Amino acid sequence: MTAARRLMVVAAHPDDESMGFGGVLARYASEGVETFLVTATRGGGGRYRGHAAGSGEHPGSAALASLRERELRAAAATLGIHRVDVLDYTDRHLDRVTVDDGVPAIAEHIRRARPHVVLTFAPDGAYGHSDHVAISQLTTAAIVAAADSSFDARGRDLGPAHAVSKLYYLAWDERAWTAYRAAFKKLVFVADGVERQATPWPAWAITTVIDTRQWWQTVWHAVSCHESQVDAYAALKTLRPDQHEALWGSQSFYRAFSLVNAGRQRESDLFEGIDA
Ligand SMILES: [Zn+2]
Repeated sequence: MTAARRLMVVAAHPDDESMGFGGVLARYASEGVETFLVTATRGGGGRYRGHAAGSGEHPGSAALASLRERELRAAAATLGIHRVDVLDYTDRHLDRVTVDDGVPAIAEHIRRARPHVVLTFAPDGAYGHSDHVAISQLTTAAIVAAADSSFDARGRDLGPAHAVSKLYYLAWDERAWTAYRAAFKKLVFVADGVERQATPWPAWAITTVIDTRQWWQTVWHAVSCHESQVDAYAALKTLRPDQHEALWGSQSFYRAFSLVNAGRQRESDLFEGIDA
């Protein structure tokens, strides 16, 4: 019997799984891969249907967090995700999570699920979002910790060590960014008074492109589960099917490391080189 192939996404917020990784999650689940999602926050720091926190229309961060967790679980069911875990860190404060706290928390999930492949944000946080940058760093460190049987989790039992075979970072190229820019309000993040914007990856730096055309409607359904964020997605509802396909029909990544393959040839499968 061949062991099931396992894939884990580590994300920062409810909706990252659909917006950033929905295509691959839907595709691999449909191909019998066991998919796992770890989401670091419940998204309580966000807007509610376009209304800022503190306004009369906003339900408050605790109520929004509960609502967004429900939306997350509905989206995950749509994408066929096998198991969802929410770490419940504070939205917009992920860059204040310490190594002693965040690394074992993620490593524990990696050791339990034992994924062959892990996906997360790139160090650029897609558009400089500090939570995305933080989850990229914490996840990368957690993979090292999960594989190290001598890792000191300060008395916490994280389970037996597990070496992830491949780590990927989300890497949107110019084409993907053009589709995003057409569909969304400008994606910017302000940190330390500096406005950060998306910087597309050069096409040559993208190691892996996954065809997810067949699953674009599933991804769109999953995105639509995040009703509380509907204002940000309002423009999406007016898109033609071909524009949706441009958004969700392919996903590109940077292979940060692999223990099973190497070289310059572009991959079309996240499990390339893995026997399971
Ligand atoms: Zn996010």
